[in-house]
Amino acid sequence: MTEVLPHPATGQPFASPVPPGTGWPGDPATAETPAATSAAGVRRLATELLDGEAASTEAALGELDARVSVCRACPRLVRWREDVAEHKRASYAAEPYWGRPIPGWGPADARIMIVGLAPAAQGGNRTGRIFTGDRSGDWLFASLHRVGLAAQATSVDAADGQALRDTRMVATVRCAPPQNRPTPQERATCSSWLDAELDLLAGTVRVAVTLGAVGWAATLSAFGGAGWEVPRPRPRFGHGAEVLLPGSAERGRHDVLLLGSYHPSQHNTFTGRLTGAMLDEVLGRAKQEAATMPR
Ligand code: SF4
Repeated sequence: MTEVLPHPATGQPFASPVPPGTGWPGDPATAETPAATSAAGVRRLATELLDGEAASTEAALGELDARVSVCRACPRLVRWREDVAEHKRASYAAEPYWGRPIPGWGPADARIMIVGLAPAAQGGNRTGRIFTGDRSGDWLFASLHRVGLAAQATSVDAADGQALRDTRMVATVRCAPPQNRPTPQERATCSSWLDAELDLLAGTVRVAVTLGAVGWAATLSAFGGAGWEVPRPRPRFGHGAEVLLPGSAERGRHDVLLLGSYHPSQHNTFTGRLTGAMLDEVLGRAKQEAATMPR
């Protein structure tokens, strides 16, 4: 029999993984949201949202989030995320796990994007919100709050009242992977979601912050694939690195400034390789740069 447990904030009972459209805070999907089951399915469901038929960018992005959140295109990742959700870490055994892909999060007219690699098994995969519920997210949200890009200093669950300002967070791969390592095929399959998201955000996005060297490479590929010009040879990652990605007026893309930051992983924060001040500097720079550009 499926175990049903109360959401830690709302108390509403849920199975793990959470069925779409059952009331989980922030769940963008309904029971009718179409689910991709192959790479071709992801491409089709993502690109058909770019035909301009949605009432607004916000509506198209909302439907994209919904479709991402029920995707089943990568069998290994679906098995893993659902297995983690079912067999829970002991410290979270009393709460339900989201156990589904993590869509992008933040306003549809954001000028800043923060691009991570993939959600954490016990973080986003548990709470249903990107970078929420793990130590890396604690660091990131505390810094976002200090520089004025997040309403609160913490992000603990999807009903905590947290909100991003002028910032949208996305992952290049939307499901938690074993050992935090998606395969090249899984990255390629999931890239259609990010390509479509970049397309929908192209009218406003001016700055992208990427966390870590792997995320840097994935972000350059994503922007290159979505119509921005990526310098050759590819620019090297470093903390504080900055690269201008020229847009194309024909395709409705503005220039985007790409900023690199060390990933706020426990390894980097425990060792002092990344300090709060260093992260504040990069995020503050993103905010300052975005503010100079019109929406
Ligand atoms: S990684 Fe991306 S494409 Fe693969 S199942 Fe998850 S959401 Fe779908």
